[in-house]
Amino acid sequence: MITEIDSFEFTRRQDSCEDTTPIGDFHRLSSLLAEPSGDLAWRFDGWRERGTDGSDELLVRLRVSGSVSMRCGRCLGTASIPLAVDRRFLLAGSEDEAARLDEADEERDVLVSSRRFQLAELIEDEAILALPPAASHARCEPPLAKSRVDDAPADEPAKPNPFEALRGLKTGRSS
Ligand SMILES: [Zn+2]
Repeated sequence: MITEIDSFEFTRRQDSCEDTTPIGDFHRLSSLLAEPSGDLAWRFDGWRERGTDGSDELLVRLRVSGSVSMRCGRCLGTASIPLAVDRRFLLAGSEDEAARLDEADEERDVLVSSRRFQLAELIEDEAILALPPAASHARCEPPLAKSRVDDAPADEPAKPNPFEALRGLKTGRSS
């Protein structure tokens, strides 16, 4: 698969690329899953637009879809969880500009453009961000021989707030 691109050229040419990548090729993502099975289909588009100050803005859109195998929180079996990403980013010419744009433009997510833009890393980062904090089957398979003690409390443990977790991750990456 393409792992890096020149995002200056890519946006200038209004280029696109797409591929289907085995999930096992994404090691950080795989380490968070029950099994590294299946594929992620992805598409990356770039273009430029005239910004409000008259200068060219470099823009990209990333779409990822597929399904990942996660451990079901109820039965501990493997649950297939659909994954979908569709995000647009404004590319800044430098780290400094990225920091400035990040402050000035709350609506848009900013990345740093590069002659060696790490596309595979972005796909993996976004797939990880899109994982649900906890997974479960819509309907679990009936347990085989369950030795559950009946006096155990039936209450589910408190789930972490998914938005809190996501905010932490995002801050970590854009800094
Ligand atoms: Zn289950």
